[in-house]
Amino acid sequence: MSRAYLALGANLGDPVATVQAAFAALAALPGSQLLATSKLYRTAPVGITEQPEFVNAAALLDTPLAPEALLDALLAIEAQFGRIRAERNGPRTLDLDLLLYDDQVLNTPRLTLPHPRLHLRAFVLYPLADLDPDLRLPGRGTLAAWLPAVANQGICRL
Ligand code: ADP
Ligand code: MG
Repeated sequence: MSRAYLALGANLGDPVATVQAAFAALAALPGSQLLATSKLYRTAPVGITEQPEFVNAAALLDTPLAPEALLDALLAIEAQFGRIRAERNGPRTLDLDLLLYDDQVLNTPRLTLPHPRLHLRAFVLYPLADLDPDLRLPGRGTLAAWLPAVANQGICRL
């Protein structure tokens, strides 16, 4: 079994209900157990700013799925929630990202681990800190060391 840290984001429809339903969908993945979920956060959109605010959260999953199989499962859940891929950083009913998978460092065309932008985003770091404030990011030191740099990004706990 491996430990996977996941990021959840939604800004269309009913984002709070979507994130909660997504927690349940993660818990139902084959052989997997949802060990912890973060608080929910409201955050300002990054990139395309003319879109609704996001609701973000993180989750810790114990899973037998290998990284690429887990990514496939996450994309399938996104599709199940009606996600349509349009513009990058644009609005979405549900975004599920794989942040960390054990201590694995991986760079394939489909999957980069750790997630390449996780240490730059308040909407990822604050939920992750709920799950484990002492978390270490492979190759990037501690999560706590990155928090001050993102403190100016708009985020508030729901
Ligand atoms: P973003 O999450 O950056 O807003 P998308 O959700 O549209 O963008 O993801 C685009 C692609 O990013 C996915 O199809 C996936 O193959 C790739 N990807 C690479 N690394 C990761 C990762 N760690 N977690 C999730 N997707 C990833
Ligand atoms: Mg994504």
